[in-house]
Amino acid sequence: MFLVFIGPPGAGKGTQSKRLLAHLRIPHFSTGEMLRAAIEEDSDLGRLAGQYMDGGRLVPDDVVMRLVLERLSLPKYALGCLFDGFPRTITQAQALDQALQDRGTPLDAVIELQGFERELISRMQKRAITEQRADDTPAVIAQRMEVYKRQTAPLLSYYEQRGLLHSINAMGSPDEVFSLITASLATK
Ligand code: ADP
Repeated sequence: MFLVFIGPPGAGKGTQSKRLLAHLRIPHFSTGEMLRAAIEEDSDLGRLAGQYMDGGRLVPDDVVMRLVLERLSLPKYALGCLFDGFPRTITQAQALDQALQDRGTPLDAVIELQGFERELISRMQKRAITEQRADDTPAVIAQRMEVYKRQTAPLLSYYEQRGLLHSINAMGSPDEVFSLITASLATK
């Protein structure tokens, strides 16, 4: 099963993706994690990506797609995965569709977590204190929210038109949100 997880920063994608991965027993495909690992390794790609990530901007599509296509060919993703933080632009979504179609394994569903902006920002500010992520400062949080609205939200209609979109209210407790996700996927 190939799933895409979309949601504004702070919507609980991290928490919910962990549960969903255990539930569905599919591997995690997180571009954010892959990019942070590249920064950690101080590779050329990591140095390039870091310049964008530190400011809360998206890493350019060609850089992300190079990384994604290389990873997607690994055997562990042959039968399915949960795409998390990817795709983030229409260009990336189209490239993913093409790649999956070429392999004969099209996307099965897209899960969107929805939430109120003010609540999402307050959640991230709390997380900034406990996790100390470099991109959780107030200015960068605001920037990531704007980037989501401008560049990633258009993906929702892209996937809705394809009949793939499952929109989930993410303002409840982690248990409530997880039940909504699994119930929605069961109707597929
Ligand atoms: P969050 O969902 O909390 O924003 P991520 O770990 O998914 O966190 O992403 C962190 C940063 O990594 C983003 O702000 C962006 O700079 C970069 N990034 C991750 N995935 C992508 C992607 N698919 N396209 C472009 N940039 C990305």
